[in-house]
Amino acid sequence: MAGRSNVGKSSLLNRLARSHHLARTGRMPGKTTLANLYEIGTGGYFLDLPGYGYMQRGRDEATDSRAIAGRLLRRLGNISRMLLLVDSRRDILESDLQALSWFLSMGLPVSVVITKSDKLNRQEQSRIKMDWMAVLSRNPGVDLTPILVSSKNGDGMDLLSAKVSESLYG
Ligand code: GDP
Repeated sequence: MAGRSNVGKSSLLNRLARSHHLARTGRMPGKTTLANLYEIGTGGYFLDLPGYGYMQRGRDEATDSRAIAGRLLRRLGNISRMLLLVDSRRDILESDLQALSWFLSMGLPVSVVITKSDKLNRQEQSRIKMDWMAVLSRNPGVDLTPILVSSKNGDGMDLLSAKVSESLYG
């Protein structure tokens, strides 16, 4: 799971933890952030990557986060799916597109998860979904349909949970 700081990653992880019995097993230190590793009851692992929204704080930190994430991903190897979290209230950000290309260039299957759907009305939800579908259709190796979720009201959690289970257990 990856996403910019403040995208709603911790909140989503907390909700997912309830349905997938996650228990944190390791923390990997970075300069300003940590990647957390969670063990899933039946033997899989769930990796929470450091946020990548540090561009505005300084190039070194951005490079640092990416280097840590790259090392981790290479070391862990067998990653069944990357969930890329993006904020529903923002237009598609360059940093999200860069993250998407980066994960795809490593050969990781990616699903885009649009967070905080409760902040949008139906029409706005469809718009952001369509905007992302247009981007995703240009990228092979990625799920064409983004998953719209809210950690606040639980919308989309069943779909996301099913995606996580499918990725872990086939
Ligand atoms: P992280 O930095 O990506 O781990 O983000 P957090 O989970 O800490 O959330 C950042 C902020 O967004 C907090 O104020 C949360 O309460 C809020 N937030 C997270 N998820 C949702 C959501 O689904 N709906 C709404 N309305 N707010 C959310």
